[in-house]
Amino acid sequence: GACQPKALEAMAFLRLMSGSTQGLDIEAKMMRMMVSLLGEGGLYWVNGSSEKPWLGIPEPFVMVHGQARMVRAMIAWHQYTGNPDWKGRIDRLIDGLDRVLAVHKDDYAYFPVYGFYDREYLRSCYTRRGWRDTVEPTTEKFGEENSLFNHQGHTPGALATWHRLTGNPQALALAAQLVRFYTRPKFWADADREYPKVVGPERAHWQGHFHGYVNTLRAILEYAVAANDARLKGFVRDGYEWARQRGLARIGYVGDAQGCGCGRLIGLAVKLTDAGVGDYWEDVDQYIRNQGTEMQIVPEDADYLRRLSEGKPPPPKERSPSMPGRSAERVLERIVGGFAGKPNKEVVWLCCSPHGSMGLFYAWDGALRHQQGTVRINLLLNRASPWMDVDSWLPYEGKVVLRNKSAREAFVRIPAWADRKTVACALGDRAIEPSWLGSYVRFRDLRPGDRITLRFPITETTEEWTIPKLRDSQPGPERQVHRCRFRGNTLVEISPPLAPGSPLYQNRARRYAVAAPPLHTVTRYVTPAVLQW
Ligand SMILES: [Zn+2]
Repeated sequence: GACQPKALEAMAFLRLMSGSTQGLDIEAKMMRMMVSLLGEGGLYWVNGSSEKPWLGIPEPFVMVHGQARMVRAMIAWHQYTGNPDWKGRIDRLIDGLDRVLAVHKDDYAYFPVYGFYDREYLRSCYTRRGWRDTVEPTTEKFGEENSLFNHQGHTPGALATWHRLTGNPQALALAAQLVRFYTRPKFWADADREYPKVVGPERAHWQGHFHGYVNTLRAILEYAVAANDARLKGFVRDGYEWARQRGLARIGYVGDAQGCGCGRLIGLAVKLTDAGVGDYWEDVDQYIRNQGTEMQIVPEDADYLRRLSEGKPPPPKERSPSMPGRSAERVLERIVGGFAGKPNKEVVWLCCSPHGSMGLFYAWDGALRHQQGTVRINLLLNRASPWMDVDSWLPYEGKVVLRNKSAREAFVRIPAWADRKTVACALGDRAIEPSWLGSYVRFRDLRPGDRITLRFPITETTEEWTIPKLRDSQPGPERQVHRCRFRGNTLVEISPPLAPGSPLYQNRARRYAVAAPPLHTVTRYVTPAVLQW
């Protein structure tokens, strides 16, 4: 009810990036199934019934969390496919949110948190009988996972994005009412317990559910952009900076260490930068080169994962009536590409996998932008596009090659760790003097086929960082000093590991010890499509 729409949204993003057609038949079935759940009031229902005891609710129900997630997924597919059916579905779902699910008071609105069932994740579900109690939440700790924001705070963002794309006035009006509610001081840090002379609730300070707050901040920003509210934009910037204080944002190790947390922060950082509130490309580079990719399950993890299950009894082969979807078939193979839920990579959840994948997309989308013949390269990552291709040797070598296709002008952002005095540029084989505009080098009068090479020495640093334990259930001390070796923004060695026994970063030292990067010949997929997300 809550996470599967994230998988649907991520599928559009991942196909746009890669051009992969793998599993289209399965995807089509999943999509048909999900579209069939759009029902009464336009809402996204779960078909609970007494024959499906594993769902926990014996009647059809609506999970609040999943509604805006489904809107986001449909917004992606609406743009990706151009199929006009999506528009009607999205408009109807938003109408259902507004007229069926939300409680409206004065100039604000919220979704109630008490339905007729009590189990965690089922508590805030709406059924045909309506809500059991529509009481107004007084703190942020209401609702699923002890967080009001985690299950409904993201909603105004989807509405604002839909308004931006189509001008739907109902979407913007409901977003405004929800944002008025979610920005109330009672949901943000308590002024009495905070730093003297810092008014935390007006500065987006918070404590509690990382994912809930980060998603809500992004939603507030998306609304602030749609409504052009500068004060709210600044509020979100403060909240983002505050979110970075937990863990080690230097590598995107944030929140409660789940694979989704870094993806969410990448999304917020890119959006803040796009909104002109700050320039967070350096942050995004640090996130995506580290936790944003390292938490992904890759084929090389197979031996480690096999060792984790050694000596443990095999899971039951037969399907159990309480968990009919459970399977022990080819698990190691099938989880490749997903994102881990813990730094030991011992779990992969439907929450973290799509959100980690969306983190890849947010960074890919932000890495290269094109407008009217001007290309802006914000991240020195490998990237193909109809306008210009980027070949990056980082972090093996400080070398980036741009292969121009149709751009007339390019701006290339040089990472903060590089010494600007040492940046050398060449057009073809001819050295040219770099022309700087802030942290960007500018190239003009480009012609199709031009090849630009940028070179600068890689800075290697060894840093000591005190990293707190981000999950209480994790073994080990409350905080520990780690020795971290970086090449540019890439963490190549950490000792001791982030968590006892964690495989994260453990094979990077060997991988990056070689003098030249391993080169592969690949066919790159290129699309002119740009999705608003
Ligand atoms: Zn997660």
